[in-house]
Amino acid sequence: MIDLENISFDHCIKCTVCTAYCPVARATTDYPGPKASGPDTERLRIKNPELVDDSLALCSNCKRCEIACPSDVKIADIIQTAKNRYLKKKLNPRDFFMSRTDFAGSLATRAAPLVNRMTGLKPAKRFLDKFIGIPSQRQMPSYERGTFHHWFEDHVKNQARFSEQALYYTGCYVNYLDHELGKDMIRVANALGVGLRLTREKCCGVPLIANGFIEKAKKNARHNIKKLSAQVQGKADSVICTSSSCAYCLRWEYPNLLELDNSGYADNLTFVTAFVWPRLERLKSGALTPQNIKVAYHAPCHLERLGAAAHTIALLRAIPGVTLVLLNSECCGIAGTYGFKKEYYDISQAVGSRLFEQIGQAAPDLVVTDCETCKWQIEMSTPYKVLHPVSLLARALGK
Ligand code: SF4
Ligand code: SF4
Repeated sequence: MIDLENISFDHCIKCTVCTAYCPVARATTDYPGPKASGPDTERLRIKNPELVDDSLALCSNCKRCEIACPSDVKIADIIQTAKNRYLKKKLNPRDFFMSRTDFAGSLATRAAPLVNRMTGLKPAKRFLDKFIGIPSQRQMPSYERGTFHHWFEDHVKNQARFSEQALYYTGCYVNYLDHELGKDMIRVANALGVGLRLTREKCCGVPLIANGFIEKAKKNARHNIKKLSAQVQGKADSVICTSSSCAYCLRWEYPNLLELDNSGYADNLTFVTAFVWPRLERLKSGALTPQNIKVAYHAPCHLERLGAAAHTIALLRAIPGVTLVLLNSECCGIAGTYGFKKEYYDISQAVGSRLFEQIGQAAPDLVVTDCETCKWQIEMSTPYKVLHPVSLLARALGK
């Protein structure tokens, strides 16, 4: 029987705009592009799963095709669903471990200095390359000692004194890898008169979806839906994300890809810059110190798909002394765990090369982006330091 749940492929008008925008199709001739892998072959796959093409695996789920499509075809969702439904899965310990970010994070944060030192050593890199399939060229992220949620326990009372409250979904990045961004988020929210609270969240599921662990992704999603929905107390109660990929997943992947009802909080979920920018007028005049720097801004793919990049741009323009260079919207190539896989490393770097060139031509003092994996990719592939927009704002507030 034909699955009629997602027939958005039928709205395709064959314009091929999606293929022109697909960064993977541009980087390798092995991938036929979103039109061919999505709407064109979906009818065949529905009729006969034997007709599935292994090149589907090359799609990085960056969603650039969906941003470009004039007919609102859910191209990347169609491809992800086909990958998970029809491609034969081999159990791969690397993919299993990389997608269990809560498990990996809670272990690594207990022995952070040692883990960080070990993963930076050449013999360890060679081992990861040869036996695990993580390319030796890839810089591994550094873990924090302990979790951000644990650190926050001592700050709950202080946050409760604010009359306006918002719920902060930290994501794994802040919880395990970058406490400073979480602290900057608190500084910024407090400066705007908003107190933050956390909830017992799980990984949003982005790496689980990307690696084909759909049932586990659904389990995490159900947990998050329950926790976030229970915490939302009214229309004006915001759930804030500092990670653009977490925000996109919590808002759209749950209903569109995992087919779960997130209406208990979906309309309250907001990306941090969309929350902060309209509230900047609450700051006293002179609260922001001029930065006198040239900033190159890279809009992450999932933030663009979310439609929130304009808020980040507006926020950056509101920081005095920032000369803003808007980079032409190009995928950085890392796409979450995609660029950590040996078999996709060259494609990942080829995809990012045009962005790296643009950054070099802009010669900024620093690069700003809203996504942690874009930050890793840019810092590894260019000589520039990358900051989150919230951290730049916290800096201007005189943190
Ligand atoms: S999600 Fe990205 S990589 Fe996949 S088909 Fe669309 S544009 Fe190409
Ligand atoms: S952009 Fe949309 S309408 Fe055009 S070919 Fe791609 S899927 Fe079809």
